[in-house]
Amino acid sequence: MKSATAVLRAVPPRDGGPKLDVKGSTPRPGTPGPRPISTPTNGNSVREGPAIVSTHFIRSRIGKICVAITGSTPADMMQNAEEIVREDHFVEFRLDYLPNPVAILPRLKQFLYERGEITAIATCRRASTGGKFKGTIPAELEILEKAAQAGCHLIDIELQTAEHTKPAQMKKLRSHGAALIISYHDFESTKNLDAIFDRILPFQPEFIKIVATAKTLADNVTMMRFLDRRRDEANLVGISMGEQGTISRVLGLRAGSVFTFAAAHAGEETGPGQIEARTLRETWRIDHIDASTKVYGVAGNPVRHSLSPLMHNIAFRRETVNGVFLPLQTTRLNDLLTLTREVPLHGLAITMPFKTDIIKHLAKTDALSQKIGACNTVVRSQDGKLYGFNTDVAAVVRPLERRLPLKGAKILVLGAGGAGRAAVFGLVEKGAEVFIWNRTAETAKKLARQAKAKTIRREQIAKSNFDVIINTTPVGMRGVKPASLLEPKELNTRLVFDLVYNPIDTPLIRMAREKGLPVITGVEMFVHQGARQFEIWTGKPAPEEEMLRVVIHALRQEAQKSEPAR
Ligand code: NAP
Repeated sequence: MKSATAVLRAVPPRDGGPKLDVKGSTPRPGTPGPRPISTPTNGNSVREGPAIVSTHFIRSRIGKICVAITGSTPADMMQNAEEIVREDHFVEFRLDYLPNPVAILPRLKQFLYERGEITAIATCRRASTGGKFKGTIPAELEILEKAAQAGCHLIDIELQTAEHTKPAQMKKLRSHGAALIISYHDFESTKNLDAIFDRILPFQPEFIKIVATAKTLADNVTMMRFLDRRRDEANLVGISMGEQGTISRVLGLRAGSVFTFAAAHAGEETGPGQIEARTLRETWRIDHIDASTKVYGVAGNPVRHSLSPLMHNIAFRRETVNGVFLPLQTTRLNDLLTLTREVPLHGLAITMPFKTDIIKHLAKTDALSQKIGACNTVVRSQDGKLYGFNTDVAAVVRPLERRLPLKGAKILVLGAGGAGRAAVFGLVEKGAEVFIWNRTAETAKKLARQAKAKTIRREQIAKSNFDVIINTTPVGMRGVKPASLLEPKELNTRLVFDLVYNPIDTPLIRMAREKGLPVITGVEMFVHQGARQFEIWTGKPAPEEEMLRVVIHALRQEAQKSEPAR
């Protein structure tokens, strides 16, 4: 038996064709497999006769992404379709989003007739199974039958619909040539995937689609193992929904999913956790992921808005590294460790709250991580073992070293958490005289003792002069109150460094600029620590300028979005 690790690691590249749907092929003993179906002689036969369009034919036309098209009116939906098909030729019309789905069909028919390159799925999912259609099963079937007559190449029905449909009705539904997808959606959990598959199989649809919900990172492993186990028995589509299901949406294809679904734009998702088509294609380069693609990720809570996936995926693309970098949202270290082992992951950017706890699970960590008690970078070496590093330290020290000699420099560090510890240890090692202020005085004292630094009381700050003041607290982050820890009269320094990078211009940075002081923003640190991570993982020099460019661009876009409309 293949081990789970081997299963997810050693999936051979897709050969482009299904194993059982080609006319005359033999199903595995004991499994009925998809029924033999005829191959149309040309692309139009789906509209001309009752022969069902073959899965082989469909699979030769479609890419890896099917983009879901929504709209509140037929005009709206068709307008969205016109825009989407400029980039994607495989689309799903979510007819259940329309108050009267039948009203769109004449326009849809014309659209598909004129655009032979498009492959379209029609879906009219009922509210009871997670869709928006309020009608009955017969009404759903009637709409889908008409959608097939209008030229849709595939129609998607829920397992619950199939189980309540008489064979004669099913035959009628299938009499217009469209291939059948039978879907199952679990909005709560990832369980019983094989049992659901076995319920769908007797209907012999051309495609089986099973969509579960990931509540843990390990649920993605369950989904991908399932895909790998059953991929030879049917044309299978498997996805885990939810914030934690991102992995399956990106890696599910190499585990055996024939395609995956994507949203047309952010905000138009038809399922929880669905990713924008352009992001899947351009950032995650889903078309390039194969059996040898190495998988990396940023792990912690929260990582939803982390810019690490964007920064590292762009760096991989730029340096032609066959890697993909994913957000790994979890509150449980054990969950992360399971995923790391099973996929397996080749590198991790560790963030809150795991920077300390991860250390005991690593084969070895560098001396600096040991001393600080925090590790933000994990790499899998060729022997398969995990090694830990801390790139935060260099990312604080190097930008400062470029601007002033650190030996003997008088530096105030605000905060004594993970980033504060990295700053204090790194700067003391460089010979700086470091003063720590922290909201919880006891933590500052402890760190000062450990790192051979000093503490400072708040009222002393305004009376002191520093070479550098560094903020290592989250104060100044978008949405965090108060906006700034210090008042202008307390900025008696030659340089201000704020580790917060979102927004780029924090209140502290603005205050410093108003006083004419030079500044270092958190973006410089963020890119620097990421660049060192890239080098540890790949052994190549990081494309630091490109990384900085995409991060600044993303932060500016975010700032524009959050600005109140004038
Ligand atoms: P952490 O371990 O949770 O530490 C947070 C520190 O901030 C603690 O010292 C805490 O004081 C203090 N703090 C929290 N809220 C405060 C408030 N409202 N007022 C005063 N002090 C407050 O977090 P971390 O990992 O060190 O991260 C801290 C910040 O650094 C975050 O904003 C993070 O984004 C940023 N950072 C940036 C980079 C980068 O690459 N630019 C890298 C790492 C971290 P108590 O001890 O009293 O709780």
